[in-house]
Amino acid sequence: MEKVILLNLGFTKIYLLRTDSGYIQFDTGYKHNVKKYLRLLDDYNILPEEIKLIIINHAHFDHTGALKTIQKLTNAQVLVHENEKEFVAKGISQEVRPLTFLTKLMVPTMPKSWAQTDPVEPDIVIQDEYSLEDFGIKAKVIHTPGHTPGTVAVITEEGDALIGCSVHGFPLRLRRGIPAIAIDQELIWKSWERIIEEGAKNIYISHGKPFKVDFMKKKLRKRQSKKRKK
Ligand SMILES: [Zn+2]
Ligand SMILES: [Zn+2]
Repeated sequence: MEKVILLNLGFTKIYLLRTDSGYIQFDTGYKHNVKKYLRLLDDYNILPEEIKLIIINHAHFDHTGALKTIQKLTNAQVLVHENEKEFVAKGISQEVRPLTFLTKLMVPTMPKSWAQTDPVEPDIVIQDEYSLEDFGIKAKVIHTPGHTPGTVAVITEEGDALIGCSVHGFPLRLRRGIPAIAIDQELIWKSWERIIEEGAKNIYISHGKPFKVDFMKKKLRKRQSKKRKK
């Protein structure tokens, strides 16, 4: 049985990981996505209370907007990176720093009210990495900063990697690549290296379709050879 379940909420894609003791959820989507979320759970015959842990990729409102509501529905624990903790606990969004022409146009059109979410006190706050074995799966959460200071990724023993916004696809970028919104692009490349080192094979992102890790390897190689020519 597939371990990764995609819940396609539209702009944001969220994921469930099937474990021996229920499910781990990766992200929550916008505040206004909850009805669709529940419909999708129902399609898979999953009950909210089977979800034991919610991992937040990073504290932007398209990932945390529905957190409070979904936490109540599921009674799941909430895991965030140390650098995002304050934002989740206060119900505010991390800085959104657009880097491309498209996102520089897009970001200012977002309603200001979206930047505010209901505060949630996280149960688990991680630093460099965290094992998910206690939640019934051979997988770990690792720190992959760049999009925001506390962006994380989940990588299973089989190489399924939920990396959130460490790669952006459509509609944030016309062609898949490094995030179109990021506080530090240099850090992104380092995080890509780590994701590869940790054995990622199948990559699942928040905005865009899944793909194989070879895409990231190729991009990194290209960048390194460009750097050497300089
Ligand atoms: Zn984001
Ligand atoms: Zn996002």
